[in-house]
Amino acid sequence: MRIAVIAGGVGGARFTTGLRDLGDHDLSIIVNVGDDAWMDGMRVCPDLDSQMYALAGVHDSDRGWGRRGDSMRIDTELREWDFGARWFTLGDLDIATHIVRTAMLREGKSLTEVTDRLCSRWDLGVRLLPASDDCAETWVDCPDLDGPVHFQEWWVRYRACPRPASFLFRPGDAELSGAARRAVAQAELVIVAPSNPVVSIDPILALRGTREALATCPAPIVGISPIVGGRVLRGMGDVCLSAIGVAVSAAGVAEYYGARGNGLLDSWVVDDVDAGEVPEIKALGIHSVPTMTVMDTPERARRLAATVVSLGRDLLACRH
Ligand code: GDP
Ligand code: CA
Repeated sequence: MRIAVIAGGVGGARFTTGLRDLGDHDLSIIVNVGDDAWMDGMRVCPDLDSQMYALAGVHDSDRGWGRRGDSMRIDTELREWDFGARWFTLGDLDIATHIVRTAMLREGKSLTEVTDRLCSRWDLGVRLLPASDDCAETWVDCPDLDGPVHFQEWWVRYRACPRPASFLFRPGDAELSGAARRAVAQAELVIVAPSNPVVSIDPILALRGTREALATCPAPIVGISPIVGGRVLRGMGDVCLSAIGVAVSAAGVAEYYGARGNGLLDSWVVDDVDAGEVPEIKALGIHSVPTMTVMDTPERARRLAATVVSLGRDLLACRH
């Protein structure tokens, strides 16, 4: 099946890895670039790198970022120089990735071309596509700080503690990349990964052209809830949802995404523990099924992916 997935970093990568491991689908992963930032003169793309490292099997899953077994010699040296934003730790191998990316961007290559080059090192079995080739960073407006800060600063430096008044997606004219647009248009199934709705999925939806591409694509759109039993499984996504007044529940996020038409979803996959919310979700006009969604082993990630693909197939058959 030709599948396009819309995803953030680590949570999204658990799912995309399971989907890739099924082995028989043509996969385009459209990845959030709202987290991207300039750090120490290098262009850092956290969600793209989380996806690339996870799919390549070289990510540090304990720490949740960077390369497994990486050293910190350069970061330590930069500390000695008292240089740059040292609240953002960069591993040595990670820095090599950022050097390649930054050099290629400076040569005038697009982020899509650069990502393709970086990913060609491994046989990832998917096409990793930055959602945009334009600068579309997420900033956070917090009344307790002096002016808006970059999402990374709020998330990493301040641990998402200062209460956000709003999230500022700064797409300006930033648009969905041509490759991502084609992936959506040609897909037989579009999947919204169980990623942070506010700071991983919303920045993609905010790009010029995304909403239209999704509304007009012939494929069914199936999302997977990142909220299980009223909690996020990792990270501080609950803070983001609460800040914009969305209930931290599977049904809350379904309502926020909305039913296809004005909203996004044809179907919303929730965890078995949230089966009680299915009637509420159906009342929103969104098809919903409960299943096991906790991907704490590669086998469980594959099982979830297989369930979602099979559901997508059924929905596609109904459309024809
Ligand atoms: P980030 O960009 O690295 O923060 O990662 P994402 O935005 O892609 O994913 C973060 C979200 O993934 C969190 O809200 C988690 O609740 C969710 N998540 C992580 N692991 C799982 C899992 O095994 N199952 C489900 N359903 N959600 C998960
Ligand atoms: Ca992210």
